[in-house]
This record gives sequence, structure tokens and C-alpha cells, in this order.
Amino acid sequence: MKTVYSDEHRHQDGKAELIDGKLMPCFEMPRRADMILARVKEVKLGEVIEPDDFGIGPVKRVHKANFVEFLRGAWDLWVKQHGAYDALPLNWATRGMRTIEPEAIDGKLSHYSFDAGTPITAGTWRAITAAANVALSGLALLAKGESGAFSLCRPPGHHAGSDFYGGYCFFNNAAVAAQAFIDAGARRVAVLDVDYHHGNGTQEIFYERSDVLTISIHADPKQEFPYFLGHADEAGAGKGTGFHLNLPLRWGSAWDKYEAALAAAMTKLIAYEPEAVVVSLGVDTFEGDPISKFRLRHEDYLRMGQAIAKSGKPTLFVMEGGYAVEALGINAVNVLMGYEQAVRR
Ligand SMILES: [Zn+2]
Repeated sequence: MKTVYSDEHRHQDGKAELIDGKLMPCFEMPRRADMILARVKEVKLGEVIEPDDFGIGPVKRVHKANFVEFLRGAWDLWVKQHGAYDALPLNWATRGMRTIEPEAIDGKLSHYSFDAGTPITAGTWRAITAAANVALSGLALLAKGESGAFSLCRPPGHHAGSDFYGGYCFFNNAAVAAQAFIDAGARRVAVLDVDYHHGNGTQEIFYERSDVLTISIHADPKQEFPYFLGHADEAGAGKGTGFHLNLPLRWGSAWDKYEAALAAAMTKLIAYEPEAVVVSLGVDTFEGDPISKFRLRHEDYLRMGQAIAKSGKPTLFVMEGGYAVEALGINAVNVLMGYEQAVRR
């Protein structure tokens, strides 16, 4: 399997995020991608290629123009107001307030974000445009006939919606790829999100559509971030009704419970008969993850890859979360190796 990777991810290198009531060093760090790339090379997974530049057009197919322009200009506005250090929001509109976009940069950050864990830095724009290109270049490999491809995206994307960022995510790389596949003429694409956290952005983007099936297996939002989406009764709206599946699991879930949820996900996915599958590949389900509470082990990720291969469809793996940095390469690449082994059989 080929891997698409760009060094540009290094430009997203936040200093601090607000977590557990403290400003802590960012869990979402450049070393994450380094560990995965090192493992890809160590096991000789396949060629590592640079992305092509697709421009901002495909990003604007899933993100609103005002949001894209906000991200493009946010750093400069912040520096003008405060100086050259990372930008974090302070407050959010809740029930009873209005959502008119403020003029001041601090208000704009609040307007377009949903957490204080996702700093906008000097290099954010460079990193996120490169990550979208990494996803699109992986999709191009499928179009050329590859049965699987790995887009080593960083920062991740699945929490980012049509006009909001958060959860370390700015552009929704998986959604950009899924939309590009539809725009190239596909009638049906499935997005399978195996990150520990609910793929709220992906669900929001496609919620009223039937041409992109979204499935997410994640920690129950009653217990876990992002808290306000990902309940089992969310199945789509309008034309999208029945084309979105949420499989929340409780804290402490290990492979036995996870395997059953993944089997249910694959049954739904296969019945949909997609022309391609996009996997939002987060491995923060690992027992050693510092911010998560599932108990998957190294060998479970091989099994996960084997189960995903049952679709028999071209599959693009898009990197999402995973914060046990030293184990990240083994876990992410185990999914890819499990997939390859099953496809070759
Ligand atoms: Zn996650």
C-alpha cells in the first residue's frame, strides 16, 4: 500500500491546549506523524509519495467559503490584536445567545470553534491545506486502480464541520476526499470512522445526504468529547435519513465489544454497496492512549484492518487521532497491514 505524506504538517505545532482545567502541551504534535511514517518505512508497507496540489476548490465543496476565509486570515488578525503567540478562543454562544459573526478576532475564534484545544498558529494554514492535498492524493491513487491507499494526514480532520473547527481539526480531510469522489462521478461513498471520538464534523457535513454513508464507532458522548453529537438515535435527516449510523460504546470497552460494533458497521456498509470506502483512521482507542478510555491492544488493530477489508471495495485510510505517540506507528500501521493481508488472501 502506498502512503501519501507531506512534511508541511510540521507547521501546525501548537504550544498549549486547554484540557482537564489546565493549559497543557498539545497532545496533537508533529512527532505523531513522524512515528507513523517511521513505522511505514520500517515494515516496508510501500512507496511513500508527496501530495499533488489540488488548490482550495475541493475544500470549499464541504466547507463554507466564510469559514475557509476565516482560517486563511485568522492568524494575521490575531497577531495584530495580541501578538505572535497561539490563538485560542475564550467563550461560546450557548442557548439564548445569537450567532452573528463578531468583528473582533477573539469573537471570530469563538464563532467558528467549539473548543479551546485547537490552537491556530503561524503555520496552521500551510499545514491544513497540505493535509487536504494528502487526502486528495490518496484518493487519486484509488482512481488509478489501487485497492488501498494511506493518506498520512496531520492535523486530523473528522471533528471539523462545514463551518467550524475543534478537536485538533480544521479541514475535514476525509470529507474532502469523500466529496471529491462523488464529484468525480461516484454515486455512493461510505465513510467509516474508527477514531475513539465521534466524527461529528463528518456527520454534520453529510447529515442530509444519502450519497455519503457515515458510520462512527466511538466513546458514548454522554461520557466523552465532543459530548454533543454521536448518540445512537442520530440516523440522518431529510434525504439522509437512514444513511448515518452511530455506534457509541462505554468507557472501558475492549476488543470484544468493539468487534461486535465493527461487525454491525461492516454489515451496514456492505449493504449500502459503496463504490469506495474512506476510513477515518484514529487509533486513540488504544489501551495506552493518554486522553481516551478504550482498551484496544496492538494485535486488535490487525483484526480491525482485516474486518475493514471485508467490504471488497477500494479503501482510502485517512489518519485522524491517536495520542499514545510511541505506540502510534505500530497501531496505525497494524490496521493497514491487516487490511493488506486480508485483501491479498
Ligand atoms: Zn480522537
